[in-house]
Amino acid sequence: MDGGKGLSRAALSLICAAGLTAAGGWTAQHAWAKDGAPVPTSPDIRAKAAAELPPEPGVFAAWIAAFKERARAAGIGEKTLATAFRKVRYNAQVIAYDNYQPEFVKPVGVYVEARTKPATVAKGRTLAATHKALFDKVEKAFGVPRHYILAIWRLETGYGAQFGGFNVVEALATLAFRGRRKGFWEDELLAALKIIDKGDVTAAELRGSWAGAMGHTQFIPSTFLRRAIDFDGDGRRDLWKSLPDAFGSTANYLKSAGWTPGTPFGVEVKLPPGFDYASAHTGTKQPVEAWRKAGVTLVDGQPLPALPGETSIVVPTGHKGPVFLVTANYRALLRYNNAAAYALTVGILAERIAGRGGVVRPWPNGDRLLNREEKEELQRLLAGLGFDPGPVDGKVGPSTRTAIRAFQQKAGKPADGYANYALLQFIRSKAAKKSANETE
Ligand code: CA
Repeated sequence: MDGGKGLSRAALSLICAAGLTAAGGWTAQHAWAKDGAPVPTSPDIRAKAAAELPPEPGVFAAWIAAFKERARAAGIGEKTLATAFRKVRYNAQVIAYDNYQPEFVKPVGVYVEARTKPATVAKGRTLAATHKALFDKVEKAFGVPRHYILAIWRLETGYGAQFGGFNVVEALATLAFRGRRKGFWEDELLAALKIIDKGDVTAAELRGSWAGAMGHTQFIPSTFLRRAIDFDGDGRRDLWKSLPDAFGSTANYLKSAGWTPGTPFGVEVKLPPGFDYASAHTGTKQPVEAWRKAGVTLVDGQPLPALPGETSIVVPTGHKGPVFLVTANYRALLRYNNAAAYALTVGILAERIAGRGGVVRPWPNGDRLLNREEKEELQRLLAGLGFDPGPVDGKVGPSTRTAIRAFQQKAGKPADGYANYALLQFIRSKAAKKSANETE
């Protein structure tokens, strides 16, 4: 988890389908597949890892020796340096995960529905009862309700079933040595060494996902240093074996991310005819009253409830799918993992565990989304038709979405900025018509 920087497990498995990320870019939190693709299976990753060229003999060891110097200068003790790197080898599997690029992205609804099934909800309720006394304490201390912590716990590690079996120091050293975003991984590696140095856990206990996300709710090392707490009071922060520490740390993180007690992540709403979709994103924030005045209602037509603070409308799967009015707590969930599919899934699962919620409008799960080449084609066609999608980079970010909206508006379509295959086909037909007119 964390701050849109590391990759938690859910993050990776996630998401970020087509333009779904909040800030226009998926920021790798955890680590599995990117762009909403299914998590790669072990044989896939093993095959890709086997195809990776290993570094020349001695080069990785020399890199580690140099990094140790830097760690020493940062105050890491000799005992930590000796134990942390003792069995560390270059790990090609980590690189295979980091390089993994799915061919096709699945619609957000597929991701949400797969993770909010009745059995998952039922298990969450059972666990809420099992750990009632602990959750009472956590809620009292941080104001974060138990069902949101349960939902994060489910998404990150399947309620504690899978923590990830990588040696975190080895994974981070491999990524820093050879992966993308070298500086980011170097900082995480240094943070991992600091955790060992402080005595919270031993080097052997520091295990996690390929991207270094650790424990029940998958904190990356820098997040561990900043936000993990010793909630059971035994003098150590242990996110693997201590549920009080894991739940307390997660609640502490959300509180620091601006969690507002007594408020859901959001509610499903219905937009009035002719609603201006240009305001339907987390960048437009206003009090509920302003949305009421604009004609927005609950999905069943009832008036919007009173929700504190600034709220936004999000349309994760275009105008045909469910629409949500989201609160500061949705934004706090994005701080945990910066992908709309993640924040929505946590919110929807949490509300269902609490006995509320459930999405009324069907998700357009048959929707075919675009791969990178098709996104580039979309951008070229938009530019050819006189719209400005920004650089042709195969990423549907804010400027491309603005160009799509302008195109949709001109074509008399709902301007939801949603990039799916139907949109690409429509733009292709418009571009073909334009070029036919020009050659006449
Ligand atoms: Ca503890």
